[in-house]
Amino acid sequence: MGLTGQSVGRGALDRGLTLGQRLSGEQVVALVGNPNVGKSTVFNALTGLHQHTGNWPGKTVASAVGRCERAGHAYLLVDTPGTYSLLARSAEEEVTREFLLSGKPDAAIVVCDAACLERNLLLALQVMAVVPRVILCVNLLDEAERRGIRPDLALLAKRLGIPVVGTVARKRRSAQALLGALVQPAGERPPTLAPLLQGCRSSLITNTADEESTAALAAYAGSLCQEVLPAAGEAYSRRDRRLDRWLTGRYTAYPVMLLLLLLVFFITIVGANYPSAWLATGFAYVKDGLRRLLSLLAAPPWLSGLLVDGAFSVLSEVVSVMLPPMAIFFPLFTLLEDSGYLPRIAYNLDRPFCACRACGKQALTMCMGFGCNAAGVVGCRIIDSPRERMLATLTNSLVPCNGRFPALLSLIAMFLVGTAGGLAASALAALLLLFFILLGVGMTLLSTRLLSATLLRGLPSSFALELPPYRRPQVGRVIVRSLLDRTVYVLARAAVVAVPAGCLIWLMANITLGGSSLLQHAAAFLDPFATLLGLDGVILLAFLLGLPANEIVLPLILMGYLSAGTPVELGGLGEMRALLVENGWTPVTALCTALFFLFHWPCSTTLLTIKKETGRWRYTILAALLPTAIGMLLCMLVAGIARALG
Ligand code: GDP
Repeated sequence: MGLTGQSVGRGALDRGLTLGQRLSGEQVVALVGNPNVGKSTVFNALTGLHQHTGNWPGKTVASAVGRCERAGHAYLLVDTPGTYSLLARSAEEEVTREFLLSGKPDAAIVVCDAACLERNLLLALQVMAVVPRVILCVNLLDEAERRGIRPDLALLAKRLGIPVVGTVARKRRSAQALLGALVQPAGERPPTLAPLLQGCRSSLITNTADEESTAALAAYAGSLCQEVLPAAGEAYSRRDRRLDRWLTGRYTAYPVMLLLLLLVFFITIVGANYPSAWLATGFAYVKDGLRRLLSLLAAPPWLSGLLVDGAFSVLSEVVSVMLPPMAIFFPLFTLLEDSGYLPRIAYNLDRPFCACRACGKQALTMCMGFGCNAAGVVGCRIIDSPRERMLATLTNSLVPCNGRFPALLSLIAMFLVGTAGGLAASALAALLLLFFILLGVGMTLLSTRLLSATLLRGLPSSFALELPPYRRPQVGRVIVRSLLDRTVYVLARAAVVAVPAGCLIWLMANITLGGSSLLQHAAAFLDPFATLLGLDGVILLAFLLGLPANEIVLPLILMGYLSAGTPVELGGLGEMRALLVENGWTPVTALCTALFFLFHWPCSTTLLTIKKETGRWRYTILAALLPTAIGMLLCMLVAGIARALG
């Protein structure tokens, strides 16, 4: 059968096993389906892996591979990107078509939505034309049932001549039934279907849209659908319509969106206040213990300085500042995603993005950027037009990722609303954070418009964004997965760079050259330019050293000041503020630092991702220059105004 990793197509196998690792005797099974039909959920149920699931079309832009076993048979399962058709137009369709044709899987499971059978059946028929063994998985049966849709699955199996399994993929039992169908013998194909499939096969192999064969296949799917769904229920439920009237209504959409965002920030801020302080106190004890342990071991002072004041300090700052807000924000964001609200945001923002000659789907990739800009950049693959994809890629880091949220929050709390805490202060902090976010969104729109008037000229393409039904999110699962997949991942990434960066800055602070430390030299060198931006040399140096991860910038600033003067223990935000004020910080410094946090070069991971996605250093450099220029201009403006006002 000769399968290779390449046969899956562009950037596909980025997770888990690769096809090259296929074991002998293992059968390759492709998982195919329209977007948002529960394909990732089926994949996870079958393989026990944890692919990201979310209630919006287009979130799986690459394939994943996993293994499962049943009755002595071993299967290698390949999850392909969601697609409506095999006649390749978009990147996802191309990946899926190429895999089915060139990869020659032994079997395919076509997952479809019981409530939209007709459109799903068309894809199933196309797959049947190119793969010898096909199993139809009619998923989301519970949701269809609620709308009074009950397809006759036995009849469907007879008319198609393949095994048909009804599933509720969120339930474990469904996976077992599917595995059972894999070992079932295939039925006989009805004589009327065979010539249709043959015609379709030739047009798929040449990838030419043969209208006659496509129309014949669509007609077959249509009549089959009528047969198995005698009394189809309403596809768009009354509850969803009522919700959409509020959530996407002309006058209500924006206020509701802002309120929801404000609520998410408020919960994050109120919830994160306490654990942050506890963690800081806990780490102070550990630090003390470490120092004592090292002195017991008679470690030289430089070693204990490097390990405790350098590496451990920055690491503990990163964890205590970042962990609590992330552990609250990520699950809340994932709940919004899983409920089906995210595509509504894209729908609402379609008009402003179109006015900027871009595509409404950019709103979705922008939202993904709130989590992580590198993920947002990969997400841009859901945009078909290369010009619009480039616009979305270049502007993605203009919204703050999770590495920058906590720092923004701390700056707001320390200098703009006060550190006393309380609900009123938290509400004000949430409002200010919302202001920063809206500034980011505003700059995204403005830069998109500017780019599309200059470097990336063109007209917006029309796009059809499907609004999925609202679904009750799987709360427990969402919380566990977003904590494990996103929070721990981001934190681990930050921790890995925090340790060497902490050591580096400690060394810079403690190696002297001509009477002053390297840190002082570097800060003094950067100082004149940094002052123009309303910052100082230490802050700018921390931003430069923080290139690997934004999470470490604030801890590095603190370390920079601490190691230059007498070390003090930082308990909470109050002590942190005192240290900054001692080093000349004013509310203007805090505002400029916050603005620079919002707009400066993306982290190295995001930059490398942009290079990988666009294939050009030119665009990568542009993606770094754009936010940096905006940040510098805004900072200079604020600092200039502050100076003028004295
Ligand atoms: P994919 O885009 O096809 O990979 O779809 P996902 O696996 O991400 O699922 C989309 C949404 O549907 C998620 O919110 C899932 O939790 C949900 N979902 C998947 N299968 C079922 C099901 O059988 N019943 C219900 N009620 N929800 C499901």
